[in-house]
Amino acid sequence: MKIDRVELRYLQVPLKAPFETSFGRFSVKDCIFVSVHSEGATGYAESVAFPAPYYNEETTETVWHVLERFLIPRLIGQELELPEEVSALLSPIRRNYMAISSLEGAVWDLYCKRKGISLAEALGGKKREIDVGVSIGIEPEVDMVLRNVERFVEQGYKRMKVKIKPGFDIRLLEAIRKRFGNELLLMADANSAYTLEQIDLLKQLDDYDLMMIEQPLAHDDIVDHAVLQKRLRTPICLDESIHTAEDARKAIELGSCRIMNIKIGRVGGLTNAKAIHDLCMRHDIPVWCGGMFELGVGRAHNIALSSLPNFTMPGDTSASDRYWTQDIVEPAVAFIRPGTLAVPSGHGIGYEINHKVLDRLTVRKSIF
Ligand SMILES: [Mg+2]
Repeated sequence: MKIDRVELRYLQVPLKAPFETSFGRFSVKDCIFVSVHSEGATGYAESVAFPAPYYNEETTETVWHVLERFLIPRLIGQELELPEEVSALLSPIRRNYMAISSLEGAVWDLYCKRKGISLAEALGGKKREIDVGVSIGIEPEVDMVLRNVERFVEQGYKRMKVKIKPGFDIRLLEAIRKRFGNELLLMADANSAYTLEQIDLLKQLDDYDLMMIEQPLAHDDIVDHAVLQKRLRTPICLDESIHTAEDARKAIELGSCRIMNIKIGRVGGLTNAKAIHDLCMRHDIPVWCGGMFELGVGRAHNIALSSLPNFTMPGDTSASDRYWTQDIVEPAVAFIRPGTLAVPSGHGIGYEINHKVLDRLTVRKSIF
């Protein structure tokens, strides 16, 4: 397939309710929406970078800049046989994985549409449906989180992930266990809010039967996490620290985690995400798919990836109505049963774009 044209759109989408993590509070989602065109077919993807560099070093504006100046010029006019070639083509560019991923993902969708297969099938996924959990932000009061947990339990989500930070951790987990019992599948995500000096506090997490504690220590660390994992019964799951299959290999060798969160954007696209999945599977490290407040297109990519066999734990890919009043895809991402999403069998991502909604949310557009 020859890459004829790429279109970028800067979208701004209001969240249904603000979401807070240890690094900030969001009420609007900014994202770059990418369309890649080849001989009448179009592939879609979206970037997951936030407007400010708090999760990683990329921002919505750096994604646009890197796509416009460095990535799209390398892709336009190229004749590709397989989407895996994109990673190699863009490999001279260091990091900027979210920018790379948004272009690479659109090429995967394009490839699948031209070939008449689903994205899940192209990746080698066999699952027809996936179990999903939900991610619950920090609130000013513990009671407000409890109300959110209750609401999502009622909606059927299969696992609750709560964001924690120092001062909003033990008392939150204590309250959740007291109210909902030990049967609830519960995990905590610290987004790097602690250091090894707080090991005594972190060891208290072992009392709450958590499925895992996600990224308790620094965003770029795998050494201290290995020290901590030896002292904790609760499995550590790495998120921010893992950008490449090499990072994953080193973390596994050091014993820095027992579970891995794979986010397509964080690791530079589907090709690398699959490589990390395969590596973890060989080492008996279960994986799950993390969320970044994706719109429907990003959700569809996550669902396709989650159809791979080592995604054995419910991920963060909730239904569209978790965050959005109206999604950019049709139909919206919705449960087929409580807590279960179907893996679409349609071509590519398996969802149509609602161009009216897309136009309404677009604040800037460029064609290359
Ligand atoms: Mg996380």
